[in-house]
Amino acid sequence: MEVVCPICNGLQSILISCPSCTGRMEDGGILEDYYGPYSPYMDWPALQQTSSEGQCVHLLYCPACHYDTRVAWELILV
Ligand SMILES: [Zn+2]
Ligand SMILES: [Zn+2]
Repeated sequence: MEVVCPICNGLQSILISCPSCTGRMEDGGILEDYYGPYSPYMDWPALQQTSSEGQCVHLLYCPACHYDTRVAWELILV
């Protein structure tokens, strides 16, 4: 058994509608990718507390209207 993120591993598709235009949201990647040591996002206090144990935080974006949001996925056992 292994604890993995279903989105990172392609086990689950993202079925979230854009709250702005109702389009289909797409995965923009793991949020941790966005705040490495040299990232300007490090100065944003709100972003530093989004990730927690047992969750994988992804950035979702809407290709139609460019709305984006962060979603924490529960990790699952496989
Ligand atoms: Zn993930
Ligand atoms: Zn949209």
